[in-house]
Amino acid sequence: MVENDDVTIEQTLVLIKPDGLVKSLTGNIIDKLSESELVIVGAKVVSVDRELAETHYRDLKGQKFFDELIEYIMGTYHTKRVLAMVYEGENAIKRVRHITGDTNPESANPTSLRGKYGRITTSGVFENVVHASSCPEDAKREIQLWFKPHELTKVIYDTREEEVTKRETVWK
Ligand code: UDP
Ligand code: MG
Repeated sequence: MVENDDVTIEQTLVLIKPDGLVKSLTGNIIDKLSESELVIVGAKVVSVDRELAETHYRDLKGQKFFDELIEYIMGTYHTKRVLAMVYEGENAIKRVRHITGDTNPESANPTSLRGKYGRITTSGVFENVVHASSCPEDAKREIQLWFKPHELTKVIYDTREEEVTKRETVWK
């Protein structure tokens, strides 16, 4: 986060969740988010494993909906894909949350993404098609969890150099 006198340039993590992908809402969601006039500085499709899911939602561990939430974000009910994106710009967190709408799709503004496209399952989980970071601390933690420095078009947090030796699958 960079601050000067009157603007706060922020980054925020946006996830199009598996229900958003399976309902072919990617285009609609990105189109609506473009109203924010923010810039995408990273994007990739991710197959979410349990470790990533539980780390992302670690603050909700203990909630009655936690286990189902983990299955939901892993794609057990829809497709094993999430589109992860980093948006950057003035007041990015608030702007994106405004477009995203309330957590509960039933109380979300009907023109927000969650109001338009979300649903509540019969077991009570909010399938609300998108995730958006809720504060700068969460945004930093979440962006660093989902993206490596080189996957973003610019350096937004401090980095360090490290020797890494590992086997990797490459194209034949
Ligand atoms: N969630 C749910 N039931 C609840 C609260 C949350 O199913 O009563 C799910 C919902 O998919 C939500 C996610 O858990 O997006 C994370 O919850 P959080 O409170 O962080 O809401 P958000 O930041 O996504 O608006
Ligand atoms: Mg949250």
